[in-house]
Amino acid sequence: MPELPEVETVRRGLEPAMDGARFAKVDVHRGDLRWPLPKDFKERLQGKTVTGIGRRAKYLLADLSSGDVLLMHLGMSGSFHVFREAGAKKLARYYHEREKHATHDHVVFHMSSGAIVTFNDPRRFGSMKIVPRGKLEDEPLLGRLGPEPLGNAFDAAMLAAACKGKKTSLKAALSDQRVVAGLGNIYVCEALHRALLSPKRIASTIAGKSGAPNERAERLVAGIKAVLNDAIEAGGSSLRDHKRPDGDLGYFQHHFRVYDREGKHCVTPRCPGIVKRIVQNGRSTFYCPVCQK
Ligand SMILES: [Zn+2]
Repeated sequence: MPELPEVETVRRGLEPAMDGARFAKVDVHRGDLRWPLPKDFKERLQGKTVTGIGRRAKYLLADLSSGDVLLMHLGMSGSFHVFREAGAKKLARYYHEREKHATHDHVVFHMSSGAIVTFNDPRRFGSMKIVPRGKLEDEPLLGRLGPEPLGNAFDAAMLAAACKGKKTSLKAALSDQRVVAGLGNIYVCEALHRALLSPKRIASTIAGKSGAPNERAERLVAGIKAVLNDAIEAGGSSLRDHKRPDGDLGYFQHHFRVYDREGKHCVTPRCPGIVKRIVQNGRSTFYCPVCQK
């Protein structure tokens, strides 16, 4: 399942293909994604120019010249691929000639830039929606989201205040999109390892009684930002290094410190621990029981 760094990598990959370009033609092969596409989906896109591509948590937001915003979510298995029309000038090295319509290419954007952007989603948990820019604040999908973890506003004080009085585990608190937006199972595990905090620790222990942050909150925020920035950096270099033979954006080789490393040695310097897997709220947690306190 794509998490924030993958979505940010997709955003950066879509930018040269879509930003400043017009939707010349939109093909919908299957409109029944997680929710049905709006009936006027094609009409509201075709002929409109993309004026910017942003991200909020795991949502991609394409601003359109009409004042609408195209909201896109990858769901569990969604992916964007960027190809170029036969004979179109190369926009970036990772664009590939498109061979044929793939089975799960549900939505295809033909851009005036010469790029063909396909949305492929075998499980169809992904979604697209068009919302007027002025109504974005009322959008229920975005309204419930907590702060953006890489935003300047997200700091130890903000995280501690959100965890104040919370008797759930840190793992559960960080997975709650209202506490911090866009973190999933993988990066919660990785951030906790970097902060040397146990995923089982009670969330309220990163705050004092007044809700003021303690040193654990500082470490945790630093861990979250570092792990996300490193992953986005890795995604960026995978875009540059031309590692995607099929034009796929967003999935790249990761080097996790604990995630999916059960039974392996902890990578914390001088720590003799072995990575352990436990189940919390139905999801696997990977952590080092020695250095994560
Ligand atoms: Zn360790």
